[in-house]
Amino acid sequence: MIIDEAHDTTSEHPFKGNIDIKKLKDLVKKVGAKKIAYISMAGPVNMAGGQPFSMANLKAVHKFCKEHKIRLWFDATRAVENAYFIKVRERGYAKKSIAAILKEMVSHFEGIWVSAKKDLMVNIGGILATRDKRFFEEARNMVVVYEGLHTYGGLAGRDMEAMAIGIEEMVEYDNIRARIGQIEYFGHQLDKYNIPYVKPIGGHAIFLDAKKFLPHIPQDNFPAQTLAAEIYVDSGVRGMERGIVSAGRGRNHKTGEHNYPKLELVRLTFPRRVYTQAHIDVAAESVATVYQNRKNIKGLKMIYEPKYLRFFQGRFEKL
Ligand SMILES: *Cc1c(COP(=O)(O)O)cnc(C)c1O
Repeated sequence: MIIDEAHDTTSEHPFKGNIDIKKLKDLVKKVGAKKIAYISMAGPVNMAGGQPFSMANLKAVHKFCKEHKIRLWFDATRAVENAYFIKVRERGYAKKSIAAILKEMVSHFEGIWVSAKKDLMVNIGGILATRDKRFFEEARNMVVVYEGLHTYGGLAGRDMEAMAIGIEEMVEYDNIRARIGQIEYFGHQLDKYNIPYVKPIGGHAIFLDAKKFLPHIPQDNFPAQTLAAEIYVDSGVRGMERGIVSAGRGRNHKTGEHNYPKLELVRLTFPRRVYTQAHIDVAAESVATVYQNRKNIKGLKMIYEPKYLRFFQGRFEKL
């Protein structure tokens, strides 16, 4: 349901993670609101290159969902990065704190789920939160069955303590500014070599545009997977394919055709508080080395394909 600008890697639209309200209305008209269990928003949007949604867009989606009695939930795993972009890009939010913006964002949702490994800066764990009392009671009861008592949900007390500190630190402006500053710095290094990547620079990663990087490799030979492998061979820097391998096949995983996504991207994601500037320079130089040698790069052949989520365990051979 994302806006069309998200499919154009060169568009500088400030909120390429926005939901297209018209597409949403058309879908609900077509299938009926009753057929939709819930709508899930995420921000910044991974598959679109780490691009945020705006508060105005969220308000419009919320209003629409309320009118049609559709539940609206939020994958808030990277919500702080999204809040940062609202602060610096959306009119009326420059003077508000990250915490205040985050609170306003979640006020529009019935519930959220969070992987604590990202914004919250801990090793493992997560949060499920909702304002729906009935759902809350049910979820709390299921936690006892599947994870542990509702007071700790399967997490160690030590990890919960770390998470509490992470929640305080994640909304500090200097923390999120420094994180997104690292991504910007990496992007500006790549600009020196005119390397094509998704613009504007996103929240948690740089997404290399493999279709532009390796235009001679057809989509059936996995351009983004090829590029990720070449960078790894050059420097040991490990990226992630977000293209035809990730898109999988149609209904039948054996006989089905590949799904052909519009974009072939390589995601270079940065863990929080791990890299120094020198690490980032090495990563940029490696991408540049591969770029200078791009004409000699051939595609890949898939030699092993697992049944589910082939982008995690598939194996490839050089052509
Ligand atoms: C990492 C991530 C997840 C998955 O979280 P795990 O803790 O690895 O299960 C879900 N949603 C988003 C947006 C993420 O970035």
